[in-house]
Amino acid sequence: MNISIFGMGYVGAVCAACFAERGHTVIGVDVSADKVGIINAGKSPIVEPGLEELIAAGVKSGNLRATSATADAIANTEMSMICVGTPSKRSGDLDLGYIEAVAREIGAALKHKNGRHTIVVRSTVLPGTVNGIVVPLIEQASGKLAGVDFGIAVNPEFLRESTAIYDYNHPPMTVIGEWDKASGDLLASLYQHLPAPIVRKSIEVAEMVKYSCNVWHATKISFANEIGNIAKSMGVDGRQVMEVVCQDSKLNLSDYYMRPGFAFGGSCLPKDVRALTYRATQMDVEIPMLKSLMSTNYAQVKKAFDLVESFGKRKVGMLGLSFKAKTDDLRESPLVELAEMLLGKGYELSIFDKNVEYARVHGANRDYINGKIPHISSLLKPDLQDVIDDSEVLVLGLRDRSFEKYVNGSRNERKVVDLVGYMPHPSTDEMQGICW
Ligand code: NAD
Repeated sequence: MNISIFGMGYVGAVCAACFAERGHTVIGVDVSADKVGIINAGKSPIVEPGLEELIAAGVKSGNLRATSATADAIANTEMSMICVGTPSKRSGDLDLGYIEAVAREIGAALKHKNGRHTIVVRSTVLPGTVNGIVVPLIEQASGKLAGVDFGIAVNPEFLRESTAIYDYNHPPMTVIGEWDKASGDLLASLYQHLPAPIVRKSIEVAEMVKYSCNVWHATKISFANEIGNIAKSMGVDGRQVMEVVCQDSKLNLSDYYMRPGFAFGGSCLPKDVRALTYRATQMDVEIPMLKSLMSTNYAQVKKAFDLVESFGKRKVGMLGLSFKAKTDDLRESPLVELAEMLLGKGYELSIFDKNVEYARVHGANRDYINGKIPHISSLLKPDLQDVIDDSEVLVLGLRDRSFEKYVNGSRNERKVVDLVGYMPHPSTDEMQGICW
């Protein structure tokens, strides 16, 4: 199939590379000339394991190219996938600015196209967005009719950064929300090789499924953290408790996100929790449990800060800065929040994160890292050992295997704050530095 993908970010770049690997001809579209150039040079605009190799192979085979020209992309493909960002506004509501702009651009290009085109929304949007905003904008700009002249579907993405390519190829399910049957059929044929059930529903159900999943993940993380915190205050190892709880497969609990540890972050869970709670509040729906998720999450960052303070030392080394291991993504990273809290209280901070360091020099995020958070990026050190040597307290912020030998080697010499479970069965002494 000939597919254009709008938005070469964490979702779009992975989808583009994976479709190209499957033999489809893919045009990646992005307003960022920087990202377009990086992809056409056969490189990855973001840090994601295995992605650079796939992009290089796709560009070399001719299956993948990138452009900023919407008209070219629409004219040369039969399906367009929208993967642009849907960040939070200050109020917590969704900012639909990017998605509205792309809908207008696609509509304008469709005006000049003969033959059917299918538009698929992969970005995370609240129910009603596609039918109420995206479709009218495309119809207005193109002068064509949804379901008749062009197809519309929603296809939420379930990949997790750091394992995105594996997740893409092994999704828990493929969810298709279809406006018209032909669009659903086309998408189903695209994914029929995947080892996952294909679920076809209405557009609104598909939109809501994605929120339900993300809010459930955030709930699991917060629940496990609160249980861990209570257990710890009773001298009990919360991780062992949750390992046992998760063995109860009859209640269908997977152990994903159910390990007491640090706060959730990233570009999805916080913004999706905010968007759903904001909308519920607007509609006068009472949601005391969901409303407390963000404050529970913040409490976990504050807890990590209190742990560092409890040691009474001033020189802190942080191992990890991104919101999870194996990515350079700093969006809403709780480790950035922790670093800012420590800086604000005058701690001497040094930070090691190999992916953020790589992105700071080579990646598409370098302007953000150098320009928007210079107070943090200036503390990044390229050498892990330097950060360890410089610190009296070491904060283990990411589950990165490569830290293990350094951490174990220096465990007796300096205080350790373990946010992510390096010490699965800590002694009572070590529990002092554990974030649950
Ligand atoms: P991102 O910010 O990394 O990427 C968005 C890209 O869209 C950017 O490169 C931007 O330049 C580009 N863009 C903006 N306007 C454009 C336009 N008019 N035309 C072409 N390109 C344009 O975002 P992301 O993390 O990939 O997330 C995209 C969507 O997918 C969001 O709705 C998000 O909630 C959802 N999602 C994200 C993840 C994740 O793990 N990051 C997982 C599942 C779903």
